[in-house]
Amino acid sequence: MTALLIKNALVVTLDDAGTILPKGEILVEGSKIAAVGPSVKVPAGAQIVDAEGRVVVPGLINAHHHLYSSFARGFAPPGEPARNFVEILERMWWKLDLALDPEAVRYSSYVALLEAIHTGCTTIIDHHASPSCTDGSLDIMEETFRQAGLSGCLCYETSDRNVPADGVAENTRFIKKTQAAGDGQVTALFGLHAQMTLSDATLEATARVCTETKAGVHIHVAEDLSDETDCIAKHGSRIIQRLHQFGLTGKKSLFIHGIHLDESEMDLVAETGTMMVHNPESNMNNAVGTQKMLTLLKKGVLLGLGTDGMTSHMISAARVAHLLQRATLADPRVAFVEACDMLLNKNAQICARCFPEKRGQLVPGQLADVAIFDYVPTTPLEPGRYLGHLLYGLNYARVHTTIARGQVLMRDSKILTLDEQAICAKAREAAQGVWKRF
Ligand SMILES: [Zn+2]
Repeated sequence: MTALLIKNALVVTLDDAGTILPKGEILVEGSKIAAVGPSVKVPAGAQIVDAEGRVVVPGLINAHHHLYSSFARGFAPPGEPARNFVEILERMWWKLDLALDPEAVRYSSYVALLEAIHTGCTTIIDHHASPSCTDGSLDIMEETFRQAGLSGCLCYETSDRNVPADGVAENTRFIKKTQAAGDGQVTALFGLHAQMTLSDATLEATARVCTETKAGVHIHVAEDLSDETDCIAKHGSRIIQRLHQFGLTGKKSLFIHGIHLDESEMDLVAETGTMMVHNPESNMNNAVGTQKMLTLLKKGVLLGLGTDGMTSHMISAARVAHLLQRATLADPRVAFVEACDMLLNKNAQICARCFPEKRGQLVPGQLADVAIFDYVPTTPLEPGRYLGHLLYGLNYARVHTTIARGQVLMRDSKILTLDEQAICAKAREAAQGVWKRF
């Protein structure tokens, strides 16, 4: 088994005791952490990574992403600016995803994975849409994750908006494929766009597959008020109750946003143990409202953090989550610890339900997902003080080295697993093609 030693590290273990080692070592064997301490026993021939006093933390997790969104950078759809969320979907996202071809799926994915590695993110739960090339699109993305070296939980955004039940077959096939492979690097959920573009027949088909495969769903819920009013008008029910009727709530399912959930829906999410993800930057950008993040947490909902395709920068997502709650509630006492806990702990707990291997702490037995930040603390970085350094120090720091599943993916900000220059050049070409077809 290959061994790797990280030495001279200021190790933020995030273990249950909050241990911080001012000068520590981490031994990695294969894809897992074998030992952590001030000094560990090193097998002969181990690869050495000298952290040179830098801050070493567990790899970050993005609990909701759309990698294809990376091709929206610098693009403005023609015509008048969208005035509301439905217009944003119709004028921008549903045209952009329709313009993706297999090459664009591949390169938009690579671009986002490069950014994830550069920002110390080692696991991504993605929600993909490319209706012009649905079948096989998840295999293309899987290849990019494996080449990059990151862990991914993938799904296809099933919707009736272009073709009825588009995505059901792709999700079903890919869930079965990853379950049969069973290596844990790439797993799958059953992707659904949002209830407003899903018929009862498609939800029934989804439920059948989820029962058969024991997979959960990954779906946007109540991102905008229009999703709730649509559900009430067409189905005489609120969103969570509608999904619950089809058996799509539960511990394996991941519900995104939930900004306009009422008390009864939040209670049902909590009672069923359904996971949720907050994406504050995206919500602010789309002007859809502010999630009742603290209420959901108080009700015991497992609530993580994502970027919803806006960026791949997870510390920024936590920082904005904390600031947005304070601004919205006009209360300077709230949301700092909660936002950090969502990023560091809740996202790891969500992953524990989506992947076979544990991650999120630098402790023996967990996945060797590690980010080494080029960061020299200018105030004491001791147990109990990490969160301030995270949101107001590491947030601006360069990531020097990223290790995932025991493999060094980037050293001195140079990516080793992918040819960054070549990918960026090809991505610019592919993006231009998408914009022309838009
Ligand atoms: Zn999303």
